[in-house]
Amino acid sequence: MKKIKGIPVSSGIAIGNVKIVIKEKLQIERKYIKQHEIESEMIRLESSIEHVLKELDVLIDDIASSQDNRDILSTHKMILQDPELFKKIKFLIKEELLSMEHAIQQHFTEVVDLFSNMENEYYSERSSDYEDVAYRLLSHVLDQRKDILSGLNENSILIMENISPSGVARVFEKKVKGVCIERGSKNSHSSIIARSLNLPFVARVNDILKSIKEDDFIILDGTLGEIIISPDKKTIEEYTKKLDIEKKDKEKLNKIKNLETKTSDGKKIALMSNIEIPEEINQVINNNSEGIGLFRTEFLFMDKIKLPGEDEQYEIYNSIAEKISPFPLIIRTIDVGGDKISKILNIEHELNPNLGCRGIRISLEHIPIFKIQVRAILRASKRGNVKIMFPMISSCYEIVRVKSIIEECKEELRKKNISFDENIKIGAMIEIPSAAITSDTIAQECDFLSIGTNDLIQYTLAADRDNQSIEKYYLPHHPSIIKLIKMTVQNAHEKGIKVAICGEMASQPEFVSLLLGLGIDELSVSPGLLLKIKDIILHCDMRKNLKLTENILQQKTHKDIEKILKEKKG
Ligand code: PEP
Ligand code: MG
Repeated sequence: MKKIKGIPVSSGIAIGNVKIVIKEKLQIERKYIKQHEIESEMIRLESSIEHVLKELDVLIDDIASSQDNRDILSTHKMILQDPELFKKIKFLIKEELLSMEHAIQQHFTEVVDLFSNMENEYYSERSSDYEDVAYRLLSHVLDQRKDILSGLNENSILIMENISPSGVARVFEKKVKGVCIERGSKNSHSSIIARSLNLPFVARVNDILKSIKEDDFIILDGTLGEIIISPDKKTIEEYTKKLDIEKKDKEKLNKIKNLETKTSDGKKIALMSNIEIPEEINQVINNNSEGIGLFRTEFLFMDKIKLPGEDEQYEIYNSIAEKISPFPLIIRTIDVGGDKISKILNIEHELNPNLGCRGIRISLEHIPIFKIQVRAILRASKRGNVKIMFPMISSCYEIVRVKSIIEECKEELRKKNISFDENIKIGAMIEIPSAAITSDTIAQECDFLSIGTNDLIQYTLAADRDNQSIEKYYLPHHPSIIKLIKMTVQNAHEKGIKVAICGEMASQPEFVSLLLGLGIDELSVSPGLLLKIKDIILHCDMRKNLKLTENILQQKTHKDIEKILKEKKG
């Protein structure tokens, strides 16, 4: 028996036999053409692209296809329809006299390399979309398409170096039990699709292809991100039991999708989702989430060569607002800086980036860029379900400043006769201790508050949220954190506004009763955990939550609190 660790991408257990798939490389002759052949190569290129576009249309219209799959195929269509793509391949044919196949391969190899070398995982993983499109186009022109996944069956656990988004959808249709890849990341398109299909998936398992062979018996644990090769009898029994429990839990959780989220004694809690990229919206809707409590907009600014324009941002915000309507969409303005570095914003290298120019500070340093985002958000608010939220607020001074900027943006739109929600709700993230301590004055200026526990813990306890080696100091249940949350809730409620938690603490089952006992009105959680958190809310009772919270507030140390939470779970 041997265990290998990777990263957990999509939870769930798979027990079965290994099927290794090595993506076949298409054989492309690196051929040059003569001057008089340019015209015919151009015609071949146009008709090949047209053919593949039609093929994609058929796949998109296939009613058996999932919404996620359709969205990915539409993205692939957009790649093929990009005039820049066409122009560049044409250039290689015309100026460098490459054959059409050679030109397509050369162009896509460059784009794939460009994306894969980007530091940001989200963008580096976009390379697999381009690989997918290139494979589809080239296998059409070379008439070499083979279904590399044809050998899969219902017992297989697929092992690959990497998998394309359409590959995930295809293996799901073949009913494979799970997927493990050597490369990949949590936020790739492929990973997003795996999560929305609930397909157990582990990524970044180093040397997995060297460690196993075809038909090996393995266990894939998508929750822990682990592969167990040749498990012993005891481990198989343990995992068979876990699998059985998992199946029953899933059936149970699916049944609560349509229920209203309230405690057993009737207190309504708005349960919403956090998203980082637009593609996550489908999973959010599938789970009947009551809105998006945090839409992080950093993806628009990371690893880009040019700043996103107002129209581009508007299209994205508007399409999500439309999809989630009538539920709210809370858009958080850029929060780059700290660990999220955007090259286009020219942020100077800082010695302590987490204590440097990040969050709202960046927006206030780059007001024209900030106003573009605010106007795009305002335009998307015309349906009335969009709210705007600001990160890293340290006192009400910054809220007053951003409110005056919002007013300027409103005026600019009015002048152009562009409609928006005149009463758009404004919120502040409470994620710096100074903001929690002065939340009474911040609440006076806001329509809602949302506590970002990820940063609140980091700044209160002086413990870097990304540093694994000091993990033991990063404590959501430290008495100071609980007191700051309580103070924020009291101040907000005194001013008659609601408070949400959008940090990871809301997605951790062990803290739900405590947070509700502290008076939190809304929880915004990671989409994959929404139903689990909903189940906990449905089963808890506010009287018990309040009692638990009172007890916890009396405790001196996080160890005492840990004990109480453990006993409760007991
Ligand atoms: C937080 O700090 O809790 C939060 C939700 O914001 P982010 O994780 O994006 O910093
Ligand atoms: Mg934060």
